[in-house]
Amino acid sequence: MKYNTFLIKYAEIGTKGRNRYKFEDVLCQQIKNHVARLGEFSVRREYGRIFLYAESDYDYEDLIKELQKVFGIVGICPIVIEETVEFEAIRDKVISYVQEVYGDKAVTFKVNARRTNKAFPMSSMEMNSELGHFVLEACPNMKVDVHKPDVMLNVEVRSQVYIYSHVIKGAGGLPVGTNGKAMLLLSGGIDSPVAGYMISKRGVELEAVYFNAPPYTSERAKQKVVDLARIVSGYSGKIRLHIVNFTDIQLAIYEKCPHEELTIIMRRYMMKIAEEIAKKNDCLALITGESIGQVASQTMHSLACTNEVCTMPVFRPCIGMDKQEIVDISEMIDTYETSILPYEDCCTIFVAKHPVTKPILEIIKRSEEKLADVIDDLMQQALDTVEVVEAKVEDLQA
Ligand code: ATP
Ligand code: MG
Repeated sequence: MKYNTFLIKYAEIGTKGRNRYKFEDVLCQQIKNHVARLGEFSVRREYGRIFLYAESDYDYEDLIKELQKVFGIVGICPIVIEETVEFEAIRDKVISYVQEVYGDKAVTFKVNARRTNKAFPMSSMEMNSELGHFVLEACPNMKVDVHKPDVMLNVEVRSQVYIYSHVIKGAGGLPVGTNGKAMLLLSGGIDSPVAGYMISKRGVELEAVYFNAPPYTSERAKQKVVDLARIVSGYSGKIRLHIVNFTDIQLAIYEKCPHEELTIIMRRYMMKIAEEIAKKNDCLALITGESIGQVASQTMHSLACTNEVCTMPVFRPCIGMDKQEIVDISEMIDTYETSILPYEDCCTIFVAKHPVTKPILEIIKRSEEKLADVIDDLMQQALDTVEVVEAKVEDLQA
C-alpha cells in the first residue's frame, strides 16, 4: 500500500490549555525540519489534528524512521482519504483498504467510526455495524472482536473521510523548542549522549560542552564527541558544541593537588566552566550523564561536592538508572557503537589509582586553594579559546 497522508498523533501537547496552539506550531515546524531531506512534504493543522502530506515520491521506511525521531509525536498513522462523504463511497474505500492491507489474513477487527460531520446521515453505531458487515463479506478470513481486536479499523467522517488501522509508535515527549535550552556536558562515553537525549525529549533545545585535553587526548577522541553530538542532533535539532581546551587546568591540578582528589577537583572546574558558557548562551540548566555510585566521582558525597560549584539547576536524567538501562537507550538512539570506540578521555589520563569516594567539601576546597594564583587566568584562557562546532545530523559520515 502506498500512502500519501499521515495523521500525526500527539498526547501531552493536548493538555496545555491556551498554550496548545504554540505547542502545535512548534511540533509542525519540527516535523517539517525533520522530513525536509526526504522529499517534498506539507504539514497542515486541521480540526486540532496534524496531517503530513507527501507531495513527491519518498521512501516509506525512511520517513517513518525520521518521524520517530520527532519529540512530541506519540503515534504515526498512515491513512487513506475518501473525499466523497457518502456511505457507498466510504464503504468501497474501506473494503479496498482492508483487502489491500490485510488480504486473506486471519485477523480479528473492530470498526471504530467517528463522525464530526453532523450533516452525515448515519450515526457512528450504524456505521460500525454496516461497515463491519461489508468487511466480513469481503474478507472471509477476518472476524469481529469488539473487546480485543487485532485490527482497529478507524473511519473518521469529517469534511472528508480518513481511514486507518496502523498506529506506529512515536518517541513521545514534547516538541523541541517548547522548553528553553540547556547545556549538556558531553564526553565520549555512553551516558552523557543518553542524558542529552532524555532532556531534549522534554522539549529542551541543547548546546553541549566538551573538555578536551590535547595532546593527551587525540583528534579522534574529539571527532568521536562531534559525531555523538551529530547523532543526538538527529533528535534534538542542531547542537552548538563548545570545545574547551582543558589541558592547562588539568596539568595545574595534577601538579598542585592531592592525586586522590584529582577527579573531583577536575569535575568541579568542568562544571564551573560549563556554567559560564551556559550563561553566556542563554541556557537555563546543565545536563550530565552521572548515575549514583557508578564510579568514585559519582558517589553521593562526590556528587554533592561537584554540585556545590553550580548555581544553575543540574539535570542528571541517568541518576537512578543501572548501566544496562543506559546502554539500552544508547542502543535505541544509535549512540552506543560510537560511544564504545576506544579513544582516550581526559578523565582517563589524569586519574588516580585510589580516588576518594567520600570527599569532604572543606578538604577539597582547601586543596583548591593551592591553585589560587593560577586558576583565574587559566579559566579565563580556557573560556577565551573555546572552539565552537555546529553539530548537525546531516554532516554525519555514513
Ligand atoms: P559518560 O559515559 O557520559 O562519559 P561516565 O560514566 O564516563 O559518563 P564520568 O567520566 O565520571 O562518567 O563523567 C560523568 C559526567 O561528566 C559525564 O556523563 C559527562 O556529563 C561529564 N563529563 C565527563 N567528562 C567530560 C568531558 N571530557 N567533557 C564534557 N563532559 C564530561
Ligand atoms: Mg566518561
